Amino acid sequence: MRIVLLGPPGSGKGTQGVRLSEIYKIPQISTGDMLRKAVADETALGKKVQEIIQGGMLVPDDLIVSIIEERISQEDCSEGFILDGFPRTVDQADALERVLPGSVDVTVYLNVPAEEVIDRLSGRLTCRECGAVFPKRDISPCPVCAGALYQREDDQKSTVEHRIGVYMKHTAPLVDFYRSRNKLAEVNGTGEPDDVFERIEAEVSEVISK
Ligand code: ADP
Ligand code: ZN
Repeated sequence: MRIVLLGPPGSGKGTQGVRLSEIYKIPQISTGDMLRKAVADETALGKKVQEIIQGGMLVPDDLIVSIIEERISQEDCSEGFILDGFPRTVDQADALERVLPGSVDVTVYLNVPAEEVIDRLSGRLTCRECGAVFPKRDISPCPVCAGALYQREDDQKSTVEHRIGVYMKHTAPLVDFYRSRNKLAEVNGTGEPDDVFERIEAEVSEVISK
């Protein structure tokens, strides 16, 4: 099962990706997590992308495509994977079709209105260790792994609005890209995470039964 999670920043791709990964026993691949880890580890890649990420811009297509190509060729992806944060431009989606014969099975589009994602992002906390996200409350440390929670640099309000603009311009066209290929499952991404997950699972099992 090869699933792409599509939706604006803060639409719940990370949260739902973890659940899908547990149920279908396939890895969740989050380009945002991979890049943030590279920044934290101060690798050559991390140094290259740090400012781009903090400014809420996109890293170059060729760079991210080569990272994904390498990642999905690994053994643990042989039964499939969940892509969270990739593709993010039409060029990235084209590149994915080139490197992945048969393309993906389904793109789950988490539809959440812009006003709601702005509220979610500027309020949320992220775990430094495992990447899990939580609505801002006085929880700490991370209930999953006991790591420290922090507000991501790019979750500050000014950057959030910029990221949504970037999403509208570069990523939103992928809705039509996958719809025209009959690969789009649109899901209402508002409400409780459990309810959203049920909607997603209904779509994914329909694809499996085909
Ligand atoms: P979001 O909460 O916006 O979905 P992510 O954790 O997916 O955030 O990504 C954080 C940042 O990492 C992005 O704003 C961008 O700078 C960079 N990034 C992640 N994935 C990609 C990609 N596929 N192409 C280009 N840049 C990316
Ligand atoms: Zn954690």
